[in-house]
Amino acid sequence: MWLTRLFGAVKNFDSDIVSKEIQQQRLSICNQCPFKRADFKTLLVNKKGVAQCKICKCSLTDKVLWSDEKCPKNKWT
Ligand code: SF4
Repeated sequence: MWLTRLFGAVKNFDSDIVSKEIQQQRLSICNQCPFKRADFKTLLVNKKGVAQCKICKCSLTDKVLWSDEKCPKNKWT
């Protein structure tokens, strides 16, 4: 989703993008996590089919891109 991609880029302006392999490893952990929500939901934005972390509220496909991002439950770094 362009809005979450833009937010992630601004928040992580000083961060590197991790390799595709690491992105996939992170996503595979998120996909088995009970804190994953299948549809993105905030007060202002709802988007079906965009996975979200229930704890940090980030879009998962955007969150896993950045080297500075961390799982709030320390399931990946
Ligand atoms: S970022 Fe961490 S807590 Fe959030 S869905 Fe992924 S594994 Fe779960």
